[in-house]
Amino acid sequence: MNYSDEEKMELVAQWIRDKRRIVVFTGAGVSTESGIPDFRSPGGIWERFDPNEFLFDNFLASEKIRVKYWKFHTEIYYTIIKAEPNPAHEACVKLDRMGKLDCVITQNIDNLHQKAGLSKEKVIELHGNALRVTCLSCGKEYDRAAIQARVESGDEAPVCDDCQGLLKPATIAFGQQMPFRETREAEKRSENAEVFLTVGSSLLVYPAASMPVFAKQGGARLAIVNLTATPYDHEADICIREKAGSVMNKIVSLLSDQKG
Ligand code: NAD
Repeated sequence: MNYSDEEKMELVAQWIRDKRRIVVFTGAGVSTESGIPDFRSPGGIWERFDPNEFLFDNFLASEKIRVKYWKFHTEIYYTIIKAEPNPAHEACVKLDRMGKLDCVITQNIDNLHQKAGLSKEKVIELHGNALRVTCLSCGKEYDRAAIQARVESGDEAPVCDDCQGLLKPATIAFGQQMPFRETREAEKRSENAEVFLTVGSSLLVYPAASMPVFAKQGGARLAIVNLTATPYDHEADICIREKAGSVMNKIVSLLSDQKG
């Protein structure tokens, strides 16, 4: 059956109406409308920095790479702190206020779901958060702003005040282990979801991209909202190739209309 996008959004709203365990899984595409580019697009950050250089083992092994990595992350930091949530982030907050949102599982590191108003308990961050810094030796956490100020005043590859371990933005680099607790929790929530919406993710990065599969195995309805095709489109009950902001906003307004 060929549905129009309008009909697809109405169908997703219908699924959500009688359910409470909605899981929204988000990738970089949910934040492009907030002015944070995804990494792989033309003009994206990978055209100016080489991702292979930033493998986690290289960060550990070389002071030169650490200096470069902090420069790369300084660019990301300023893009992120200037950005404001868009209608897709706001739609997740509305779902939560309706008592529908089980959680958001995000690959993003930009804190925009929390900035939009979701509590930190509702957001599972699979790739960490760029607004925090961690010591790789003792695990001490720092606020990013304080460490960023140190970097910009010449401490180009900062170390921990307590143990002299290497400090790194609290995000997951290529080759770095995924956070165990968050990954396990995300798997569990995906398996238990009644409706699973993936929004703005290419579904190419693992293990994050396995979450929609767990959701389907657990019996959830699966909708994929993404501008481009993903490897899991054939598993989805509905695919919408439109912008995250307008689609999420529309789905949630259809729910609100019904409530009113
Ligand atoms: P990704 O794998 O999450 O893919 C982004 C997808 O979003 C693409 O398929 C693109 O077609 C789609 N898209 C772009 N704008 C959209 C829109 N307005 N509406 C709907 N779909 C849209 O992204 P990536 O750039 O390959 O990033 C890989 C990893 O890097 C992420 O998983 C994340 O950890 C990190 N990252 C985070 C941010 C952020 O925090 N905002 C930004 C870039 C990269």
